[in-house]
Amino acid sequence: MRSWRILILTIKAAKKFLSFKHSNGVAMYTSRRFGTLESDLIHSSHLNFYFRSQLKRKSKIHILNKYHNNSNFRNQYKARSKKQVSKKYKSDPMIRMKTIERAMNWYHKNNTLMRQNSRRLYNQRRHKYHNNLDFRNQYKARSKKRVSKKYKSDPMIRLKTIERAMNWYHKNNTLMTRNSRQLYNQRRRILKKYATFQSHKCTLKQNNLYTQNLKEFRKIIREGPDYVCLSCGLALFRNQVIPFVEEKEQKWICKSCSDKIKKRQMPSRAVVNKLKVCEIPSELKRLNNLEKHLIALRLPFMKIVNLTSGKLSSRLSQKGTKGPLHCVPSDVEDTVTALPRPVDKSMMVRLQLKRRLKYKAVWEEQLINPNDVRDALFVLTKMHPGYKIVCGLIDRRKKKRLLFNVKDSSLFDKGDICLYEEVARMPPFARKCLLLIGAHGVRRRTLKSRLIELDPDRFGTIKPHTSRPLRDSDELNTYYYMNRNEMEDEIEAGGFLEHGIYDEHLYGIKFDSVRRVIQSGKMCVLDIEPMALKLICNKEFMPYVVFIKAPNMDHLRYIQYNNDKQKASKMKTKSNMSNNSSLNLSTKDLEQIVLESDALERDYHTYFDLTLVAEDIDKTFEQLVRAVEALSAEPQWVNVQWFS
Ligand SMILES: [Zn+2]
Repeated sequence: MRSWRILILTIKAAKKFLSFKHSNGVAMYTSRRFGTLESDLIHSSHLNFYFRSQLKRKSKIHILNKYHNNSNFRNQYKARSKKQVSKKYKSDPMIRMKTIERAMNWYHKNNTLMRQNSRRLYNQRRHKYHNNLDFRNQYKARSKKRVSKKYKSDPMIRLKTIERAMNWYHKNNTLMTRNSRQLYNQRRRILKKYATFQSHKCTLKQNNLYTQNLKEFRKIIREGPDYVCLSCGLALFRNQVIPFVEEKEQKWICKSCSDKIKKRQMPSRAVVNKLKVCEIPSELKRLNNLEKHLIALRLPFMKIVNLTSGKLSSRLSQKGTKGPLHCVPSDVEDTVTALPRPVDKSMMVRLQLKRRLKYKAVWEEQLINPNDVRDALFVLTKMHPGYKIVCGLIDRRKKKRLLFNVKDSSLFDKGDICLYEEVARMPPFARKCLLLIGAHGVRRRTLKSRLIELDPDRFGTIKPHTSRPLRDSDELNTYYYMNRNEMEDEIEAGGFLEHGIYDEHLYGIKFDSVRRVIQSGKMCVLDIEPMALKLICNKEFMPYVVFIKAPNMDHLRYIQYNNDKQKASKMKTKSNMSNNSSLNLSTKDLEQIVLESDALERDYHTYFDLTLVAEDIDKTFEQLVRAVEALSAEPQWVNVQWFS
């Protein structure tokens, strides 16, 4: 602190003194950097040595500072001195000559051997400094040490250094330099980031592999797909084909074709295979989206989602399906016949497609041309095997005329036509017949015999007629014998409820036998075929129809499994197993039972008064008995005509 103050005081004193003296001469001492001309001027000035030395000592630092810090002063000074010197130089030939001479002298004096040597040495060191790393580091460390030592020991130097640094900073800290520095830093940061990114991206090996493969690929595609396969006619690249030797001319064959031919097989895509996609007929081409929907045999339903999210708009992004895909068969016949018949060929119909009929939202709405749709469907029936069945309705000329035939009437029964039947609630009354309907194998006969066993006075059954000669007297209890011709006549006359041929013999149930049972005051239990239902469901017989439904597949399998187990255990004990014999069936039979039962239910469900599931024979029997007893206790819904 003290030394500082002393220094400043000294500087102030020197400044006062200098302003008093001629500025010109004083300034000469300021810098050592001025050339020879300036030093000449110093020599030429008339200042005495004492004054000069004093000035040198006292004001050196101040002037230096002023010269360095005050740019105005510096510029003024420079311009002034330059002007003076040049004026002198030009006006006075003596001075000119002297100056030249001195410069010459200076050159000769300075260009001594020692100088030359020192310069050479300097050059050598410079060279070494630039090329030798060790030397450079050593030199740097040395100079650093020297400078720091100087800096620490000498306060003057320290001050000078600080000031120079400050000056440099102020000079360089302009807006432009700041900006450029910022830009430079930014650039460096980006470069660094990119470099690390690159190094992470792929290791050198993979990078090489990538470039190599790319090079190879480019080599392959350089020529273009100019090679035509002899067999399939595809235009391919050179690496996909191999030369095919034929007389003189160079031909090519693709690898897959060649492999197949070598195995003596027809290449699947060969031209001779005629698997070329034919052109779409114009009738189909002109259909719009909704028209295509109308005549499609299967309508697919799926959930479509965008695979990419965000940036891209949903229309452009890649799509994928999610979850199950349902293909719903559509009845093309119905759709097309439901379309209004156009008056004119160009008539259009507005059509809406909904996901469900009850929904309000419309999935698609377009104008369609029914004529076009019919034309397209007609073309399809001719060329597409899936549309063969639609043919009849489209081409009216081909429609078959079916005449009603009594014999085939069961065909019509099976049609899913639900006719209206007027019913009325009636007070309890006993029915005259009990009909057990069901598929073969649901043990209707067992139920029937158990019912009769339960109450022989109340339940009875008939003896069927047969044209087969009876074998022994035992059969008199089970069958009536009837002459075949007589039987055929009576069947023709409609005297039989049902009939069939088994083993070339006729079997049948006569209405009269049923009547006889009813007249005896019993309820006639019958296990007839469902086809006979429409003959017996009338006022005369008043049947109670029970449908014995087959259990579902799993339960049947379970029964089967149990039977097998029982069978196995009974084989060991060697006892008979008649108990469950009627359900001892193979899996295929089980399936048959279920299918048949379903078909019966579908076709005849309108006749059924009661449906029982034949899971357990005892349980079913119990339910049956309870239902029959309920008939004479509870009111019933029956056909109105039975009591009219
Ligand atoms: Zn080929």
